[in-house]
Amino acid sequence: MIKNPLIFAAISDVSGIVRGKAFPVADLEKRLRRGVGWTPTNVMITCFDRIADSPFGALGDLLLIPDAEANVEVDFGDGGAVEHFMLSDVTDLAARPWDFCTRSILKHALARLETVGGVELLAAFEHEFQFRTPQLQRSKAYSLAGFVERRQFGEALLSALEMGGLVPDTFMKEYGFDQYEVTNGPDRGLRAADAAVILRELTRMTAGRFGEQVTFTPIRDPAGVGNGVHIHMSFVDKAGTPATYSGDNPSGMSALTASFVAGILKYLDSIVAFTAPSAISYLRLTPHRWSAAYNNLGFHDREAAVRICPVTAKDPQETARQHNFEFRAADAAASPHLSLAAIVHAGVQGIEEGLAAPSPTEEDLSLLSAEVLQARGFARLPGSLEEALVRMEANATVRGWFSGDLVSLYADHKRGELAYLEGMDQAARCAAYEAVY
Ligand code: GLU
Ligand code: MG
Repeated sequence: MIKNPLIFAAISDVSGIVRGKAFPVADLEKRLRRGVGWTPTNVMITCFDRIADSPFGALGDLLLIPDAEANVEVDFGDGGAVEHFMLSDVTDLAARPWDFCTRSILKHALARLETVGGVELLAAFEHEFQFRTPQLQRSKAYSLAGFVERRQFGEALLSALEMGGLVPDTFMKEYGFDQYEVTNGPDRGLRAADAAVILRELTRMTAGRFGEQVTFTPIRDPAGVGNGVHIHMSFVDKAGTPATYSGDNPSGMSALTASFVAGILKYLDSIVAFTAPSAISYLRLTPHRWSAAYNNLGFHDREAAVRICPVTAKDPQETARQHNFEFRAADAAASPHLSLAAIVHAGVQGIEEGLAAPSPTEEDLSLLSAEVLQARGFARLPGSLEEALVRMEANATVRGWFSGDLVSLYADHKRGELAYLEGMDQAARCAAYEAVY
């Protein structure tokens, strides 16, 4: 029996890595009020654990304030340690949200959505990952046999998710070698991004209990499939009534949804710097990988940046409740909070600008000539992280969404990450990312 179990105060930081500090359970009351000390320069620690050029140096102090609502305590029932962590906010010493706290950045974006759109966001993050400890037979796309090989893992994972406060949805053998997918039910606003962090960490912990390792890396092999994060979104109004759907048009988007999606597509070339934030993310964002390669809205199309998802309901009320759209140009190198914040800001910008409904595509855009694409308003997504960062930095509207010049800080952070990869070929870069995500 452990006499003084520890709680880990955790943040999903700018690098998408979960970092923080642990304290004894006995101190919980005190830590909820007073927090745990934290250091500004930590925001510049890249996923490779090198510190990028930091504007803070050795100066300054911050606090990690654990959120009792984001408490995760999971006993795997195998005699091993009980996992206990709490997602936290980063504040200054006067308890004001820090400009580069990813949770606070998302709260700010969601508040803007409520003010401008009068709605609350519901979201669910769908995750693909791969075992690094290979199966005996490798190609078992969507099969019962592939599922059975990992049934015990899947059952342990889904119970861990439930103990961690999530609503488990599905677990399946995905298409790629050793690739699986896990989904959970939708949550409101901040909780949806918290749930994505919790799900990733519990997946890693569950694998550890089986003596295995998993990776959520965007892509393991330049010639292979990617591990996507697909973010499903819908809206409810203040009375809790679904606000995503309208029966007035074939794509089923309400005017609010249409402008929101148009905003995402308009600012997509910049926001991918946040949602697909690794050097290798851009190997995945290419045609014919069932990810996203263009700034298009697709109707039931798995190669679109934003996809209108199918509904199974027949009656109008249930149709309105089920209706949702999915952002596919994201991966797990991103903090879910930053990804969602960037998407929400782009969407709200679309509402503010009163953008018209994008027309959904139902075809392979990679077959169209550059002229036709341009005439129809389609563009390839940036081909590299560097290109996405340059677009993001050049976009004054995007800069204006965030306080404290997040865009410059983020670009510096990412350039530090890219410097680590200099001289490596694509396979070596993939290996480097696989080791950290
Ligand atoms: N693996 C694909 C991706 O990288 C997604 C496959 C699917 O549609 O589930 O996004
Ligand atoms: Mg999938």
